Amino acid sequence: MTAKSIALSFTPIVILSCLHVAAWGAAENIVLAGQIAAQIKDRGEFASVRERAGRIDQRISQAISVEDVGQPKVWTKKIDGLWSVSIGDTFLMHCYPADASIYGKTTRQIIGLWKANFKRLFPLAEPSIHMDNPLAGSEAERELATAARAARLSQVPGNDWAITSVVLDYLAQVRSMPEARQTVLGEGEEEETIPCYDDEKTNLAIALISDIAWQQSNAEHYPEQMLSGHTPGKCEDPDCEICARAKAAAIERHEEQFDEVNRLIAATIAVRGSVTTVTNGFRLVRVQSEDDYLSKRVYVAYTLVKKVRGKLATAEKSLPPAMEPPCDNEYPGDTEQAPSGLTESG
Ligand SMILES: [Zn+2]
Repeated sequence: MTAKSIALSFTPIVILSCLHVAAWGAAENIVLAGQIAAQIKDRGEFASVRERAGRIDQRISQAISVEDVGQPKVWTKKIDGLWSVSIGDTFLMHCYPADASIYGKTTRQIIGLWKANFKRLFPLAEPSIHMDNPLAGSEAERELATAARAARLSQVPGNDWAITSVVLDYLAQVRSMPEARQTVLGEGEEEETIPCYDDEKTNLAIALISDIAWQQSNAEHYPEQMLSGHTPGKCEDPDCEICARAKAAAIERHEEQFDEVNRLIAATIAVRGSVTTVTNGFRLVRVQSEDDYLSKRVYVAYTLVKKVRGKLATAEKSLPPAMEPPCDNEYPGDTEQAPSGLTESG
């Protein structure tokens, strides 16, 4: 079994879109990453609505191959008198009044909705994660597209190079771990046990999620700077002090933020699929050939950073709002006496 035949499924964050469908009629769904991005009912310049949907699907496949779908630049503009949505240099679709009538809204409102949907869904359609992506063409085409995207996305933004390097260290560790526990003789002639990958994978995934949560918290105060020659996977020196310092600073635990960040980490681990997302990435690097691993590890690492940030964002929404700093007005519930009528004896 080759690495690329293993279908990895990073669990997408499922957000239910609430489309108010006024009339189904002969509407066709435009599906991206397993979710409905748009619904259409006008055949436009095509013989049928289905044919138009097929052409839009083709453009989406093309966009996945040639555009930066990890950080999609989705934009809208009137083209040929119709509101239209594009990603990068790839035109995706027009919005006709009949399409908008499905939703009972104007074309301008709907193009905004579609834009938001594409922006959210394109990052979930990254084929090196969804290697079984049905939208992509032949295996050879997929390989080419993945390599092109890996080369482009290997250029990690300056703000994220240190955390991506941290994740690369995890991937290297995971890749070198034995399948089974091993007992060896240590320096003092005492038996030591080397843990195996299966024993450690969940702990490592949680440690990685924690590091990314801390980096996110630290980045608000100390944005990172990329130092040329020290980009992830490029620094030649395995003991480089500059890289080591940057990595340590990125994930440093600041005591005054313990409560806040640990609360977020706990909530994130509880989010369904968050740990699996990381262990799926681990599994990928464990089965890759050496060439594949070396050429794609930065891409895999940076993809993991972004996936985990998605989980952190989901978890953050589930947390109660942070305490507001005290203001001049006395908070009505902040009095020492219980309000009358609410005492236990009353
Ligand atoms: Zn370095």
